Amino acid sequence: AQIQSADQVQSALNAVYTRYKDIKEGKNADYIPALARVDPKIYGIALVTTDGKVHTAGDVKSEVSIQSISKVFTMAKVMEQLGPDAIAKRIGVDATGMRFNSIVAVEFAEKALGGPEINPLVNPGAITATSMVQGKTRDEVWKSILDFHSAFAGRPLSVNKEVFDSEAATNQRNQAIGALMYAYGFIKEKPEQAVDVYTEQCAISVNAKDLATMAATLANAGKNPVTGKQVMKSQNVPEVLAVMATAGLYDDSGKWLYHTGLPAKSGVGGGIIAVSPGKFGIAVVSPPLDEAGNSVRAQKAITDVSNTIGGNPYAPS
Ligand code: GLN
Repeated sequence: AQIQSADQVQSALNAVYTRYKDIKEGKNADYIPALARVDPKIYGIALVTTDGKVHTAGDVKSEVSIQSISKVFTMAKVMEQLGPDAIAKRIGVDATGMRFNSIVAVEFAEKALGGPEINPLVNPGAITATSMVQGKTRDEVWKSILDFHSAFAGRPLSVNKEVFDSEAATNQRNQAIGALMYAYGFIKEKPEQAVDVYTEQCAISVNAKDLATMAATLANAGKNPVTGKQVMKSQNVPEVLAVMATAGLYDDSGKWLYHTGLPAKSGVGGGIIAVSPGKFGIAVVSPPLDEAGNSVRAQKAITDVSNTIGGNPYAPS
């Protein structure tokens, strides 16, 4: 099905914005102290079509940290640099069915499955993916990650230093995960650097419009529809979307796909991106999260907008 006209898309955004503006469910992430201090009222919706039209509702200026949504783009970067099979071979592309920072998932893959049977969208796989980004120095690795994210957003992004420092001081669990992935041979060298760069990538600051443009670039076969720049190889896009579909919302990924049909990715900063291939990218920012760590308003708002305008790729036209 074609999506609806620009006017209908805009009214869908407006309606959904109002529908969920006053709901009280969910709570900011607080295991990273700086995230607990973010204004829970920030609520913005943005949708960018593959022909470059930008629709917004609510607060699309306020920035939050990208958090786990960055995992998608670092995965894509590794595929650009090392080829499409690098992620599947080293990390795996199967859902764990467990929390995003599960250590049991790693143990299970190692002991029961005997190999790379996780995915780059949960912390152990994501930290491993970051360790695979090419570069002679930490600076080179970091610059290539930040530049790649910026190309998707269509503007130079930067890091929220407060969030980076706050997470770096409290991320002992991720440090342990990095050490474990190194001990099992998934990470080949410098696990501490991988965790540090991963933590910095999670602190990249974005608003709803940035995120929607990033999603729209994936919807548009890797070409940013706003800047017109091809930012990743079109051949790698389907595999990235497939992992988002199976694992983008952690242990609630199945439920999400059931209701929307959309590859998506959430972050504990409160953002969610979703991709309707060939049609649009959509993003909502709203910090309060549910038990699984997914933004409550973002899930509801994206589901309603997409289902209203014809975004579900599995739906009959
Ligand atoms: N930086 C966060 C962490 O590693 C990202 C988690 C998330 O967004 N789910 O814990």
